[in-house]
Amino acid sequence: MNRFYADAMLGKLARFLRFLGYDTLYRSEESVEKMLETSFENNRIVLSKSKDIVNKCNKLSVKSLFITTNDIGYQLKTLKDVLHLEISVPPLNTRCSMCNNELIEKNKQEIIGLIPKGTERHHDRFWQCSSCGKIYWIGSHWKAIEKIITEAEVG
Ligand SMILES: [Zn+2]
Repeated sequence: MNRFYADAMLGKLARFLRFLGYDTLYRSEESVEKMLETSFENNRIVLSKSKDIVNKCNKLSVKSLFITTNDIGYQLKTLKDVLHLEISVPPLNTRCSMCNNELIEKNKQEIIGLIPKGTERHHDRFWQCSSCGKIYWIGSHWKAIEKIITEAEVG
């Protein structure tokens, strides 16, 4: 399975890829050099909107993909077309959109008191991040992502 390192301007794409189950690091404070080094070592594909960074990747034999659009749907389409990335609607392998760690399915009893009462009442399936503890359920955010995937015809 492809693993990624999204450059600073691609935070939304990084969150999407995590949500779709792809192990994706995001460059916020790290230097470009550090991103290239990590990507080379972990065999990650650098995603960047900078031609300069993509050229650096080529020089260092780091796999990369030049992203030319700001539209999240088309960004996913690019990944699908170029890398044949499989994009399926979650929750199968969803990773935490905040910290990139794996989610574990929880039953209702385990998450009582950790989320708003209304949410608890109206949903049956919950997942919790194994690292930061963030709780996920199939709510409006999830539906919005589904819609983007459907509209870009990548799912
Ligand atoms: Zn997390």
